[in-house]
Amino acid sequence: PRNTLSEADQQLVNGVLAGQRRALAKTITLIESTRDDHQERANEILGELLPHSGKAIRLGISGVPGAGKSTFIEALGIWLIDHGYKLAVLAVDPSSSVSGGSILGDKTRMEQLCQRPGAFIRPSPSAGSLGGVAAKTRESMLACEAAGYDVILVETVGVGQSETTVAGMVDMFILVQLPNAGDDLQAIKKGIVEIADLVAINKSDINPQMSAIACAQWKQAIQMLRPTSPNWRPPVITLSALQKQGIDDFWSEIEKFREIMTKTGELEEKRKKQALAWMWSMIEGGLRQRFRNHPQVHAALPKLSGEVASGQITPGVAARTLLDYLDQH
Ligand code: GDP
Repeated sequence: PRNTLSEADQQLVNGVLAGQRRALAKTITLIESTRDDHQERANEILGELLPHSGKAIRLGISGVPGAGKSTFIEALGIWLIDHGYKLAVLAVDPSSSVSGGSILGDKTRMEQLCQRPGAFIRPSPSAGSLGGVAAKTRESMLACEAAGYDVILVETVGVGQSETTVAGMVDMFILVQLPNAGDDLQAIKKGIVEIADLVAINKSDINPQMSAIACAQWKQAIQMLRPTSPNWRPPVITLSALQKQGIDDFWSEIEKFREIMTKTGELEEKRKKQALAWMWSMIEGGLRQRFRNHPQVHAALPKLSGEVASGQITPGVAARTLLDYLDQH
């Protein structure tokens, strides 16, 4: 049943819809919380916010540490605010749960942008697996849209699967690269190039000639791949985030992309597919959790795991035995 919102939560909803940053921050704190009661409240609040979301352009930005992502986001963010946009910067950084230290999370980043009233910056949720962290970021993104932010940037680091996961929640995925030839090979090997809708070669101020070469090489590499869309060939541009050069060009590519994707209906289609994919990934996560928490599974798991490890029974038999417990009550 709908309309079970408490008065306090209704106030949060109203606050978010009125664009109040405090209400938005509180809502995201509920979204990120692992407490069951917080989760329940977050879901109800999100249910109210959802009809007001979806109007922003959603951009994913990735690149190796040191590529200049935060310098670029700051330069772009200030440019956008000066052009009348409101910008939310979110992050997906699963490294914090693995290494204990966050690659993206340090507080001194984007100091100028932080001070602008048109910008909302939130570090990565810290707890959990990549899927868990990303699911929370995705929900926070919807809350930011309901609060009237018209550009959402989701930043991630070039490690592991995080790029693919972020690409699955945004309209357009951007790769920030350094102008050295070894780098592109890395990205090609890891299959990141296939999901890039735009490649930006940063730090072009250092050696413009080398950047031009890198740019040509990238264009060639992209030519050989299947395009991300029949209507879009990913452009390669050069940038200097530090000197704030290339921001106009960058943004005109974004607008072009959005226009084409909207006109062809591809954007709507992509978002529908993404929403369904998230539903399934959350179902799978939920099933795994319930499975592990099931009392009989929990009780039998150590013994069966040992027997599989020592070769007494096959993994198939063990899996079947454990799964069958789910049908018993
Ligand atoms: P991130 O780890 O990808 O977020 O990278 P940062 O934005 O923190 O940048 C790493 C370093 O590269 C910093 O010292 C920046 O000042 C520098 N940097 C970023 N962009 C540029 C650029 O366009 N030109 C030059 N010369 N340095 C840059």
